[in-house]
Amino acid sequence: MNDYHAPNDLLEQKVILITGAGDGIGKQAALTYAAHGATCILLGKTVSKLEAVYDEIVANGDAEPAIVPLDLQGATPDHYKGMADTITDQFGKLDGVLLNAGALGHLSRFVDISPEEWQKVMQVNLNSSVYLLQALLPVLAKAEQASVVLTSSSVGRKGRAFWGTYSVSKFATEGMMEVLADEYKNSNIRFNCINPGATRTAMRASAFPAEQPDTLKTPAEIMPLYLYLMGNDSVEINGQSLDCQPK
Ligand code: NDP
Repeated sequence: MNDYHAPNDLLEQKVILITGAGDGIGKQAALTYAAHGATCILLGKTVSKLEAVYDEIVANGDAEPAIVPLDLQGATPDHYKGMADTITDQFGKLDGVLLNAGALGHLSRFVDISPEEWQKVMQVNLNSSVYLLQALLPVLAKAEQASVVLTSSSVGRKGRAFWGTYSVSKFATEGMMEVLADEYKNSNIRFNCINPGATRTAMRASAFPAEQPDTLKTPAEIMPLYLYLMGNDSVEINGQSLDCQPK
């Protein structure tokens, strides 16, 4: 799947929401999905970054995206309900969600994790995805085939010292994906996790400041799996946790 060659029109007629679309992997996914025909809904915290992605998509001649400025840390279930209503009014359905936004938090000893840090990272990496999906599942149900892709990490499958909150949030993300995949297995909606692996972004640089960025894959290089899971070639894939850079 990492050598998947997507047809140019893979995502034609599809409406896809991408969280964390202003930077890093989410930005690249938005540009790539738009280049393959999707109408993208760009959700993120920093409006100027979302506007820059919007401008790039339009300059490329791809379908005009929509922008949803939202800080996942402060957003409540009502915000997601409002967003779901707007998407229904504007597009009538939603074909895909890439839950990509994430916060690393501070790496520290487990014993030193403050309650505030725990709440903050869990809110962004986990709780927001719960409330967002609860609001959007009825809109995804209106699509012919819908794909939800959640973002995991190597530390979401094997715990690692000092990565406490982030690691636990990713384990929980994998668990949520499995619950949903089982619950919706006889429906039009499928759920899978992606582990991007070490990728050249701001988050990776803050986790590994001594690393040479040019030794890492770029977000563009890991897009084949992101395309595969979002397009209809993967309709049979449900409940799996896949690696962009298998070891
Ligand atoms: P970046 O830090 O480069 O980008 C993260 C994105 O999430 C940004 O667009 C950021 O918006 C957005 N975001 C963060 N907090 C919030 C918030 N409170 N509300 C709304 N948006 C928010 O990270 P990556 O691209 O590296 O990571 C993308 C995903 O991949 C994450 O889930 C990460 O855990 C996962 N991952 C990444 C790996 C890597 O090596 N890069 C490895 C394994 C997993 P803004 O810029 O406005 O703050």
